[in-house]
Amino acid sequence: MRLKIRHKIVSLFIPRLLREIGAWARSFADGDFSRRISLSARDEIEELADSLNSMSRQVQSRMEEFIADKSRLEAVFLSMFDGVMVIDQSGEIVLMNQSLKEFLQVDSTVTGKKPLEVIRNIDIQELAERVLTSHSRLESREITFLFPEERVLLAHATPVLRADTIDGAVLVFHDITGLRRLEKVRQDFVANVSHELRTPVSTIRGYAETLLEGALEDKAHAREFLRIIYDDAERLSKLINDLLDLSRVESGKMKLALEECSLEAVVDKVLTGMDREARKNSVTLKKEIPPRLARIKIDEAAIAQVLFNLAENAIKYNNAGGSVTIAARETDRGVEVSVTDTGIGIPQEDIPRIFERFYRVDKARSRDLGGTGLGLSIVKHIIQAHHGEVMVESRPGGGSTFRFTLPKAL
Ligand code: ADP
Repeated sequence: MRLKIRHKIVSLFIPRLLREIGAWARSFADGDFSRRISLSARDEIEELADSLNSMSRQVQSRMEEFIADKSRLEAVFLSMFDGVMVIDQSGEIVLMNQSLKEFLQVDSTVTGKKPLEVIRNIDIQELAERVLTSHSRLESREITFLFPEERVLLAHATPVLRADTIDGAVLVFHDITGLRRLEKVRQDFVANVSHELRTPVSTIRGYAETLLEGALEDKAHAREFLRIIYDDAERLSKLINDLLDLSRVESGKMKLALEECSLEAVVDKVLTGMDREARKNSVTLKKEIPPRLARIKIDEAAIAQVLFNLAENAIKYNNAGGSVTIAARETDRGVEVSVTDTGIGIPQEDIPRIFERFYRVDKARSRDLGGTGLGLSIVKHIIQAHHGEVMVESRPGGGSTFRFTLPKAL
């Protein structure tokens, strides 16, 4: 009798149970894992409901973990400095991060397209095809873009494997433009140094040979030849000294011995040192420094070298009867020092380049005047090491003013 009643209850209960399970299954299929089956029946049915509920709890928590992982991964991809592109097994783009889009100037939708349809670069397309067909673990290639400016990318492509078949690939792009530019600068530097050294050395050798071959007896010429040898030996020594100075300041190894001092004292020393050179070139040296100028914290020897290089140029590239003025004034941030000349000036297009190593507006003139083409590079680095800035104003035929700032002593 009891069994019969129980059977009856269960059979009444089943349609409701099925409806509830049906609704639960539909929500589940729609991705709503939070729905629970609410039934309070006995025994097996209750057990069934419990296990389904526990299953949906587990799926819900796994799904939440999965979504969190996915958004973390997406955030990493999107914010990565390197460019990332993911393709599927048919070679179509699944994902491209912002860095790569910006780098390649892609603003259209990329998903579902082949790399070549969005990036006009055959190397990237070939790399994508290779990684999907060759069974290598990594394919790398250096890719050069010429537009809108020359840039170099190093691309690494890795296949994504699922059960030993290639399911797609991940391509990572590093911008190595700066690195390549640096290498080029270094190569140019070595070539320039070799060239600069070779010229005086071959002159010295040539004249020494002529002297040894008999010109020594020809007193009138011998003296002239020796003078040339002496001048070129001087040039060599100046070049080597400038190179050593430059490499010290550039490598950041030069320890600045910062001390609070009076700028005027440094200027006086430089002017005294330049006096002979100025008189030889019929150039007048002037100084305009206000009394009680703020004291500044500088490496005295380094700033003396800056002033010396600037004043030497101001004399060298001046006209007979011209003048050179070293002036200083206080500004909000510190002290601004200027070296003004009444010389030949610098063409506008050369101004941005004169601080480059070995750059000269007029090569022959600079050499004749004993220039190495390194003076202004040394100036720039020393001022930067003092957290200052160098500026130039110049007009061909209208003289030049080189200004630099030095922070006040705290
Ligand atoms: P250099 O040893 O040739 O003088 P610098 O590095 O000191 O090398 O200067 C680079 C170039 O900048 C010079 O060759 C010259 O053409 C130009 N220059 C520098 N200072 C002046 C100046 N005061 N007036 C005109 N040209 C200048």
